[in-house]
Amino acid sequence: MGFSRRNFLKGAAATGSALLLARRGQASISARDWQPAYRQLEERGLLRERVEEIIEQYGNCQLCPHRCGVDRNRRERGRCDAGSRVRVYSHTPHFGEELPLVGRRGSGTIFFSHCNLRCVFCQNWPIAHEGRGRLVSDRDLADMMLDLQRRGCHNINLVTPTHVLPNIVSALRIAARRGLRLPLCYNTSGYERVEMIRLLDGIIDIYLPDLKFMDGEQASRYAMEGAVDYPRQAKESIIEMHRQVGELITDEQGIALRGLMIRHLVMPNRVAGSREFVEWVAENLTPDTYVNIMPQWRVEHRAFEYEEIARGIHSQEFLEAMDWAREAGLRNFDERSLAAERVHRRQAG
Ligand code: SF4
Repeated sequence: MGFSRRNFLKGAAATGSALLLARRGQASISARDWQPAYRQLEERGLLRERVEEIIEQYGNCQLCPHRCGVDRNRRERGRCDAGSRVRVYSHTPHFGEELPLVGRRGSGTIFFSHCNLRCVFCQNWPIAHEGRGRLVSDRDLADMMLDLQRRGCHNINLVTPTHVLPNIVSALRIAARRGLRLPLCYNTSGYERVEMIRLLDGIIDIYLPDLKFMDGEQASRYAMEGAVDYPRQAKESIIEMHRQVGELITDEQGIALRGLMIRHLVMPNRVAGSREFVEWVAENLTPDTYVNIMPQWRVEHRAFEYEEIARGIHSQEFLEAMDWAREAGLRNFDERSLAAERVHRRQAG
């Protein structure tokens, strides 16, 4: 299939690029010698057949763990409520993402409408739950990718891509032939089928999954009813993502080129299972896996209807998550997690 981290680094070394260690555990490589995974797959003549395999999914949709089996080409709708044409809310440089994605010129985010998870606390609920956005063709989507590249963005950041993957890969092939050469970032809730993630081997450069819940009952209550398998599906998929792209690799400026970055939002009353999260990462991935432990919980959308989560988090709830992460041996934290930790520690006195 695609390229392992070892092969990627060997390839980069062969082209004469210097491999540096920018931060502890974070490899850095010269951007001059780098090219995205999908371009390498295209050069080997393998992208087309992979794209065709993914597009076939719309005839009997099994793209995500819901496995609705609907024919989206015939306008049948599954649990995500998406059709066979992609709906996009916006495409724009975004400066609120992790710093290795944002750099100086922003992460080129494309926000897709609809979602296959739809949490009760969703911060983007008009887009994810109500499907706000406009229908576009795959060619339009390719134009958006190229526009973000022209505007100087450091990557193409696909926000909530799972349920429209066929459109994305079809557009990607068009854009690649017209000169797209930015890293492709797969920004997902984590509710993925590992079989689909395997099809992305050699296409995606940066995986940015959430790992929201470690307990299936909590996932079923606060994400989508019936998503009791969320922890298992997300963990299996993240292990596969890590196998494909490994730890984060940046260029000399600290801009992400390739690798896995995991997000985990701390929730009130330990609902998210933060201790289990950090222990799982340490035991199943590596201590240098990039983790973003996020303190920015807000009572959004319908979260106020659930007593357990209808409040902000206390400083102590965020700080204990950071403590558990260090006890587990993790050591590659997002800069904003570290900055928030300093603030909360000062406030906690
Ligand atoms: S992507 Fe949508 S239609 Fe397809 S299996 Fe998932 S929820 Fe069902």
